[in-house]
Amino acid sequence: MPAPREYTSELSHWPTCARCVACYVAGQHWTKGIVCFYCVRAARNRQGICAACGHSGILSGLDPEGRPVCVRCCDVPIEVQRKRCGKENLANHNNAGRRYLLSDRIDKLLADPGGATPESLEPLAQTIIGMPRPNSG
Ligand SMILES: [Zn+2]
Ligand SMILES: [Zn+2]
Repeated sequence: MPAPREYTSELSHWPTCARCVACYVAGQHWTKGIVCFYCVRAARNRQGICAACGHSGILSGLDPEGRPVCVRCCDVPIEVQRKRCGKENLANHNNAGRRYLLSDRIDKLLADPGGATPESLEPLAQTIIGMPRPNSG
């Protein structure tokens, strides 16, 4: 028996993102509100020098002026592990982590030769990424 459908690819189904103010697959509940999957992923993938403390690492937050700040200088609940080489790595032990892995894989699978996901395949990608159990994806 197939599991009941909890998720649809309809954009109106998703809550409004606190960051990009669009409606996409919900990523995480941050103190600002629901932040969409794409904004969470962008925050997790951004690395550089923190605008607030000068720390070099993952810059998941934004200060009031919109400059990127590190995980210690913002209220974004993204877990970061510190590797022995001094570089930060994302903690990757929970469902959310698997969803990001899944999404990366789907991006690669559906991407055209230029590396971008064709617009026609975007709903498919969102459906797969939004599935309740990213593990089985
Ligand atoms: Zn967003
Ligand atoms: Zn900082």
